[in-house]
Amino acid sequence: MLSRRGFLGAGSAALVLGLDLAGSRWVTAAEAESVPSFHRLPPLDGELVLDDDARTAVATDLGNLVHRKPRAVLRPGSTADIAAVVRFCAEHGVSVATRGQAHTTNGQGLSAGLLIENRHRARVLSVNDTSAVVESGITWKELTKTTFARTDRRTPPTLTAYTGLSVGGTLSVGGIGGLVGGLRSGLQVDHVREVEVVTGTGAVERCSATRKPDLFHAVLGGLGQCGVITEVTLDLVPAKENARTYALEYRDTAVFARDLRTLVERPGVDHVYAELFPPGTDATYKIYATAFFDRTPPDDATLTRDLGTTPQVTDAGYLDYVFTIDNAIDELSETMGWDRLLKPWYDIWLPGSTFERYLAEVVPTLTPRDIGPYGAGLIYPQRRSLATRPFPRLPKPDATGWAFVLDINTVASQAGPDPAFVEEMLARNARMFARARDAFGATLYPIGSVPFTARDWRLQYGERWQAFLDAKRRYDPKGVLTPGPGIFA
Ligand SMILES: Cc1cc2nc3c(=O)[nH]c(=O)nc-3n(C[C@H](O)[C@H](O)[C@H](O)COP(=O)(O)OP(=O)(O)OC[C@H]3O[C@@H](n4cnc5c(N)ncnc54)[C@H](O)[C@@H]3O)c2cc1C
Repeated sequence: MLSRRGFLGAGSAALVLGLDLAGSRWVTAAEAESVPSFHRLPPLDGELVLDDDARTAVATDLGNLVHRKPRAVLRPGSTADIAAVVRFCAEHGVSVATRGQAHTTNGQGLSAGLLIENRHRARVLSVNDTSAVVESGITWKELTKTTFARTDRRTPPTLTAYTGLSVGGTLSVGGIGGLVGGLRSGLQVDHVREVEVVTGTGAVERCSATRKPDLFHAVLGGLGQCGVITEVTLDLVPAKENARTYALEYRDTAVFARDLRTLVERPGVDHVYAELFPPGTDATYKIYATAFFDRTPPDDATLTRDLGTTPQVTDAGYLDYVFTIDNAIDELSETMGWDRLLKPWYDIWLPGSTFERYLAEVVPTLTPRDIGPYGAGLIYPQRRSLATRPFPRLPKPDATGWAFVLDINTVASQAGPDPAFVEEMLARNARMFARARDAFGATLYPIGSVPFTARDWRLQYGERWQAFLDAKRRYDPKGVLTPGPGIFA
């Protein structure tokens, strides 16, 4: 391991001193004498490790479909470490990816070159009643615990369903409101005021909507293509103490969709999402509509009037509500080894205007295996006008005012390897996505495992493709950053 002290003190056989250009591999202190061509790395505040255990531990992600072992792992102690190592990698043509919590499922955050283990940069740097400044490796869970503990109880306006995800990771994909947000707030990227970014040349830049806006936009939902997000200033809003959730079950797509659309527009309802199940199960859809409150609970009769089914009502404290999915996933991880199961996830954005038609076509074709005993089918509404950043590629706004994320988050019943299952599910995803895009105007929510060609990426970015390409050339001219999605390959 190489730290500033270790580097100066030298001596350990495990110290990484630089890159052997001839052999294209990292060079340790023990080897340095005998290797003729290597460039010395600058001193670091953190450490660079190259032992096999450390590299193997970061060679896959939650999907377990793609394996790519890096040659070295940076555990950064500062933005300067990230800048120095990215600069070094750019000079020597070594690919670099940043790893948040590695909860994408198709190798998006893997690298055969250098991997930045960003969980080591996870401090809250400052908080006030309207904003927080954080290092990008912090999880939304840690941030929310901190802001909710203030006497004036604050929360990020949009929170993912699972909050053990890093701020840098979800801001790189968009960040939809899984349990908080979506009806009256945008994506998580819509609530970012400023970011500190290390570009692909190793330059450190601070940017916002008015300062270097091209870089600001290119990193928010930009899949790590133009820079490493290192620090972020985020909006905070007042949090209520409690959450009341109404759960409603449906068999019929039309009745379900009608109630979903009623609830997302209903005053007093703060959040709505839905689960979908393969045909043959008791219910095909289940809506969860939530209202936040301090002392006085909402009026159930008012909030649930004129719906097609009777709700079950549950109350929880705000944090218990926010961590519902975290607790379920933690339990699956402990009892089922969930993290190691194969997860060929399918995640798309649908325009409001084709949502029902798409469900009516796809849901009857699903089998229990398409979701699996530990997977989930999920639907998240987003008020379209509140999603304003250019690079998360949502469908174009339409007269409905809504866009919907649809997840078919398949989880295999057993750990892999199972190449036949993976091949079948990736082919399913490619086939379903092509149809969803071409016939229903869908775009990809790029967190899952849909095989994408160069043409698919161009279609995904549409009229933004040239701007994305320009930003890539400007901010990562050597093309070393985040090879996983294969966008500019
Ligand atoms: C159980 C579960 C529930 C989920 N629920 C939701 C939800 O409700 N809403 C939602 O939007 N998403 C949800 N997701 C998806 C999730 O938002 C994405 O997978 C997200 O990218 C995961 O964050 P991470 O820290 O694991 O990122 P990683 O998988 O580590 O990284 C994702 C991508 O971003 C890049 N990256 C990571 N950090 C940085 C950085 N600092 N700078 C530049 N690039 C970086 C990586 O290289 C990679 O390409 C869920 C995922 C799971 C597993």
